[in-house]
Amino acid sequence: ASGEGHVLDVVVIGGGQAGLAAGYHLRRQNLDFVVLDAQATPGGAWQHAWDSLRLFSPAAFSSLPGRPMPGRPGEGYPDAAHVVAYLSEYEKRYELPVVRPVRVSGVHRDGARLRVESDSGVWTACAVISATGTWWRPFLPAFPGRADFAGRQLHTVGYRGPADFAGQRVVVVGGGNSGAQIAADLAVRDDIALTWATRRPPRYLADDIDGRALFDAATARRRALDAGRTDTGGVASLGDIVAVPPVREARDAGLLTASPLFARMERDGVAWADGSRAEADAVIWCTGFRPALAHLAPLRLRGTRGHIATDGTRAVDEPRLHLLGYGDWTGPASATLIGVGRPAREAAREIAGLVR
Ligand code: FAD
Repeated sequence: ASGEGHVLDVVVIGGGQAGLAAGYHLRRQNLDFVVLDAQATPGGAWQHAWDSLRLFSPAAFSSLPGRPMPGRPGEGYPDAAHVVAYLSEYEKRYELPVVRPVRVSGVHRDGARLRVESDSGVWTACAVISATGTWWRPFLPAFPGRADFAGRQLHTVGYRGPADFAGQRVVVVGGGNSGAQIAADLAVRDDIALTWATRRPPRYLADDIDGRALFDAATARRRALDAGRTDTGGVASLGDIVAVPPVREARDAGLLTASPLFARMERDGVAWADGSRAEADAVIWCTGFRPALAHLAPLRLRGTRGHIATDGTRAVDEPRLHLLGYGDWTGPASATLIGVGRPAREAAREIAGLVR
């Protein structure tokens, strides 16, 4: 499958939604490209999500460029399997040249080109779009006593469903959407004793606000910043947790109450500074992700907090490299289904200009 000897216009690294959106716009620019994806099958990170995960927007507001996500009758908020089916269909429909499984190990400067090395050979291109997501780099905070805890510890990425915790005492850490959804999943089970620990009290968005409003807020913020106006504060001002139906139901039934974050972990549980304790068989860390950028290390790019300095999607120190997805730092709502289309279009346009 390797592209040895042939110089492409663009190599896209990652075949999740961001890589596919890039492919859609590269095709429209008539560029010669390939998408390299480490997964064996289509769907990116969505293939690994837990069963009860619900999107925080209805299908109509979760669409990639060109093709609306089909709705599901009676189901406002699609599950991850629906997204996998949509992405599979999307890459087929647009005949996107995705090669998998290919894991890229490093991107190197090679004169006027970039050389992409992988476990399945080498590709050479005029430009690279990195769209490798964050799921592959779960973040677990350092925490006093964590090594002493004798029970099971896992991150969001390891959570499948409540059945794995039947009869157990479980601590869920984190007040974001993952923490709230997983806590809700466990809270409604009679046979699971849940402690939900959050650094600050959970902040729910109003029940009628969902991902649509988050997208609008991110876009408004970008426009304000572009126009030199005051920072509107973006999505953070709205709250942290979208009250998708399962979360709302658990909360309204009084099952979803949060404790402050504990001070340390002990052999058989967690302990707060005031001396109170909760015994636990398992702790689930819903503490977020970092961008998966190890393959870019050979380029030695400047960055802060695990990010790379960008102007739009373009790496400031390597104009042949664009970054797509990951977070708002590569474009407003770039790490969402509906938000990635616009930065993908801009990246493809800029690259078309560079190549020609
Ligand atoms: P990914 O889906 O992670 O795809 C990246 C691809 O790159 C993967 O296939 C991976 O295998 C591959 N890859 C990684 N490294 C390499 C390498 N070195 N070489 C080759 N391939 C590589 N967004 C919404 O719009 N709505 C939601 O409701 C929503 N809910 C979310 C819930 C959770 C729990 C999480 C974590 C995220 C959610 N998001 C949501 C955000 C975002 O849409 C997802 O994170 C999405 O998966 C990001 O897509 P991506 O293409 O950027 O990355």
